[in-house]
Amino acid sequence: MQDRYDAVIVGGGAAGLSAALLLGRSRRHVLLCDGGLARNACADEMHGFLSRDGIQPGSFEKIARAQLEPYVTVHRQETTISDIKKLPKGFSIVLENGTTCFSDLVLLTTGMADALPRIDGLARSWGRSTFVCPYCDGWEVRDRAIAVSGDSARSGIDLAQELYGWTHDIVVCGQTEITADQAKWIERSKVRIESSPIHSIIDDDGRISAVELVGGRRISCEALFLSVPLHQRSDIAKRLGCAIGEHERIKTDDFNLTSVSGCFAAGDCVTSIHQVIVAAASGVRAAIAMNNELVQRDVKALMQSRA
Ligand SMILES: Cc1cc2nc3c(=O)[nH]c(=O)nc-3n(C[C@H](O)[C@H](O)[C@H](O)COP(=O)(O)OP(=O)(O)OC[C@H]3O[C@@H](n4cnc5c(N)ncnc54)[C@H](O)[C@@H]3O)c2cc1C
Repeated sequence: MQDRYDAVIVGGGAAGLSAALLLGRSRRHVLLCDGGLARNACADEMHGFLSRDGIQPGSFEKIARAQLEPYVTVHRQETTISDIKKLPKGFSIVLENGTTCFSDLVLLTTGMADALPRIDGLARSWGRSTFVCPYCDGWEVRDRAIAVSGDSARSGIDLAQELYGWTHDIVVCGQTEITADQAKWIERSKVRIESSPIHSIIDDDGRISAVELVGGRRISCEALFLSVPLHQRSDIAKRLGCAIGEHERIKTDDFNLTSVSGCFAAGDCVTSIHQVIVAAASGVRAAIAMNNELVQRDVKALMQSRA
């Protein structure tokens, strides 16, 4: 590891890996640090990524990491970045082991974390038969029996209306309030409503066969879709003073620059559409903006140097 980089990337999911590839190809000195698992690491398969539909998330990242190897100016470390401070010029970055390095620019690709509700057995089925995103996993449960549960931001009925394109065999659990319009839709759609929330999941090695409601009633189903609140996986953006917007997203301009000069952000932590391919594209966009800023730095340095 060297002590000065053009850019440090915090987070090695799709957004961070893809930014590292672009910056490596631009011959920039980059440190990419990843401290853990990508958001979909729990899933058996990753869907909807052109040319990689159905790949295991771990295999996808393995390919991406291997493809970074020829780019010798990219250094990768499996470690958490514990702190970043803005300096008059650039940033100081502290790694988990206490090592400090310096960088002109920083890219936050730290992702979002799902605040899962308390349901017995949820951890076993999370990503295997309990899902959050119809676009990611709706096709796999088409025409099957599913249970659905909402949260304060999004009702179970809203989620059921979205999932109705994939299956009509839906039970919404924990739904206590129903508007007149929703009542009409429920009558026509034949979607069933249970007012009791889900207490536990009945599964075999993460494969759901039923959900048990508070009170003991069992609903047979093959999958559960949840709406869950999201929060920033890392508090580094907040500590750096980056403006945070609606739904806890880091605010950026059209070029992925945050409110802190020299600090960019990309991937799930800035967008409302949470898909691997969108995160990867967001990483590329940030990397191009960062390289443009480094080009300006290089032009200025050359102009100020002696002939
Ligand atoms: C159950 C489930 C299934 C999904 N299935 C699909 C699917 O089939 N298809 C699809 O397109 N999308 C799917 N998604 C969405 C997908 O996971 C995200 O859109 C994608 O992972 C976002 O990529 P990212 O790089 O922004 O963040 P992440 O993939 O979450 O990566 C962020 C990385 O940053 C690291 N990090 C955080 N803080 C620090 C720090 N301080 N220092 C160092 N590293 C740090 C984290 O450990 C993590 O590895 C699914 C999501 C869930 C929850």
